[in-house]
Amino acid sequence: MKVSLLALILTFFLPLWSPPKSTYSISGTHYSDNKPVLIEFEKGKISKITPFKKAGGVPKLFVAPGLIDIQINGFVGVDFSGPNLTVEDVRKVTKALWKEGVTSYFPTVITQDISIIKKNLAILAKAKDDPEIGMSIPGFHLEGPYISPIKGFRGAHLEKYIKKPNWKEFIELQKAANNHIKLITLAPELEGAIPFIENCVKIGLVVSLGHHNGSVSDIQNAVKAGARMATHLGNGCANQINRHHNPLWPQLSEDLIKISIIADGFHLTKEEVRSFYKVKGSHNTILVSDALDLAGLPPGEYIRGERKLLLTPEVVKFPGENVLAGAASPISKCVEVMMNYTQCSIAEAIRMACSNPAEMFSLNHLGSIRAGKRADLILFSRMGNKIEIQKTFVNGKQVY
Ligand SMILES: [Zn+2]
Repeated sequence: MKVSLLALILTFFLPLWSPPKSTYSISGTHYSDNKPVLIEFEKGKISKITPFKKAGGVPKLFVAPGLIDIQINGFVGVDFSGPNLTVEDVRKVTKALWKEGVTSYFPTVITQDISIIKKNLAILAKAKDDPEIGMSIPGFHLEGPYISPIKGFRGAHLEKYIKKPNWKEFIELQKAANNHIKLITLAPELEGAIPFIENCVKIGLVVSLGHHNGSVSDIQNAVKAGARMATHLGNGCANQINRHHNPLWPQLSEDLIKISIIADGFHLTKEEVRSFYKVKGSHNTILVSDALDLAGLPPGEYIRGERKLLLTPEVVKFPGENVLAGAASPISKCVEVMMNYTQCSIAEAIRMACSNPAEMFSLNHLGSIRAGKRADLILFSRMGNKIEIQKTFVNGKQVY
C-alpha cells in the first residue's frame, strides 16, 4: 500500500513541482534614456539588463533605482527623536516609505535630551539589524545637538538641549548607535568644532554644516578639517542676514561643499532652488525630504509636546503665526518640484535623490541600475513631472 502511494506521488505530482524561482525580472522604460529594458535579478542583485523587445509596444511604467533620503525626522506619526520610539515604529516608517519609493533612508535624530538621543540611536541600531527592514537603513543622521543656539539659525531645535561639541559624549552616542551614525550636522563656529570635525572625519563620518552662522573663516576651517556638505541650504538660517557676510555665499562658492536642499515647494522659493542648482549643479546637490513625523498622516491639527501644529496636505505650520514648522512631503515630491522649478531632466532629479547620496556615503551597492548593484528598484507612472510609485523592490524583493 505504502509503495503504491509513493509511486502515485512520483508519477503524478513530481512533474508539477518546480524548484523555488531564483531569477526574477521586471520590465520598464529606463528613467534616464527612455529605452525599454528588461532587468533581471538574482539573489537580490541585478544580474542582467537587456533591451526589452515585445510585440505590442513599450512598457507603461518607468523604472529607476530606489530613492535614498538622508534626512528624515519621522513619518506616519513616528518621531525618531521622540521619547517612546520602538523598533516596531521604525518598521512602520520603513514600510510607509517603501510606498513612496524610498528604498534607503537615514533616520535623523535631532537635538534632544542627550539620554533620549542615546536611547533612540540604540533602538535604531536594533532596527538596522532587523532582517525585514534593516537593509533600508544604511546609516543614521545626527542633526545637532552641536548647532547654533541663536534664534533663527537653530530653527525648530530646542535651545535648552543645544550644546558645544563634545567628543567624549559623541563617542558614547556612536557606541549606542553601534557605529551607524554616518552623517552629522553641526555648526562650525562653536568652540571646539574644528578639532571635533577632524575627529569625525578620521572615523569615517560625513560632516555637514547646518543650523549655523559661521563666518567665511569658520567655513573655510571646517572644510580644511574635512567638512564636505551643507545641510538644507537656505533653511536653518535667520530671516535677517547681512547681504555680504552670511553663511550662504561661502558655502555656495566653496567647490568642496555639496549641498542638501528641501525642494518641497515651501521651504525654499523657486528662485532660491534655481540659483542653488545653477551654482552647484546636479552632481553637487542632494535632495532631502527633512520630513517631520506628521508627514504621511491625514491633514489636521496635531499637538506635539507643548506645541500645536497644523498639517496641510503640503507642509506643517504653526497655526497661530501661520509660519512653517517643517516638511511633510516624501522625497519623491522633491523630485517633482526640482523638475518643475529647474527644468532639469528626471535623470538629473533622480540622481540628486539617489545616486548622489549613494556616492557621498560610499553606498557602492546602491544608487544606479547596473549589473551587480542591489536590486533596489522603483516602477512608476509619469504624467508630465508628476510621478506615482507603483511598485518598489528592495534587495530583489517586492515590498510594495
Ligand atoms: Zn534642520
